[in-house]
Amino acid sequence: MSKVMIVTGGSRGIGAAISKAAAASDYAVAVNYHARADDADNLVREINEQGGTALAIKADISDPAQVKVLFEGVKSKLGVPSVLVNNAGTTGKICRLDEVEAETMSRVLGINTMGALYCSQEAVKLMSSKHGGCGGSIVTVSSIAARLGSPGEYVWYAASKAAVDAMTVGLAKEVGGEGIRVNAVSPGIIDTEIHALGGEPGRVDRIAPAIPMKRAGTAQEIANAVLWLCSDQASYCNGTILDCSGGR
Ligand code: NAP
Repeated sequence: MSKVMIVTGGSRGIGAAISKAAAASDYAVAVNYHARADDADNLVREINEQGGTALAIKADISDPAQVKVLFEGVKSKLGVPSVLVNNAGTTGKICRLDEVEAETMSRVLGINTMGALYCSQEAVKLMSSKHGGCGGSIVTVSSIAARLGSPGEYVWYAASKAAVDAMTVGLAKEVGGEGIRVNAVSPGIIDTEIHALGGEPGRVDRIAPAIPMKRAGTAQEIANAVLWLCSDQASYCNGTILDCSGGR
């Protein structure tokens, strides 16, 4: 099996930690991004200067046509992927459901849910033995919001993550006999820019005291769980949703 990994939203935050950990585990990494080319280019340069192989590829994963181009690009430039990490995600601004714009909900579900479905669809077409592929692994970065529901913050985001949990369970059963394992990691609060982009830069400090371990997690701690799930060490994990939330 090839060692080629696609990380959606692999340019910063949790995705950047996954991209770096993948390169350190000898994967050639396709670092997908949407808007911030500089972040993606800097990360790719850092990985390549350290002897790894990485390539930045721009694509809005909420657009199925761009997802197809992304997968074609990875296949032609790095080879057939053996791992897809559905990591790209966004929350929209923190508010109640009766205050949020329809456009925000549509964008969040478009990226978090439809994006993961579109990418997983393309991955199955390339990896499944049913289509002549050599198998592989899909890991989705979900959220414990899927079971907490995020009241008063972003109920639509929680719904978008509950949907990818359902996708994980269903797709694992659908393609488990075709050489593909499908799993998810559900982070709790992780210290990245996503909270400031959601309008509350201090969210980590506000919530940390209520976490059983009394601290936020790091992007590296999520990357460790993702790399484990796609490794042979997790060879009998399929349809697993692994909480990585400090016990929250
Ligand atoms: P982040 O720091 O805001 O990074 C988001 C990444 O997604 C960036 O690389 C961004 O690329 C990319 N992205 C956004 N929209 C995209 C699109 N339409 N197409 C392709 N890429 C897109 O977020 P993060 O905290 O690392 O979150 C990563 C994942 O973890 C998300 O799925 C999030 O829901 C999940 N998660 C995070 C936390 C947390 O507390 N941080 C907790 C639970 C779950 P550009 O820079 O180019 O826009």
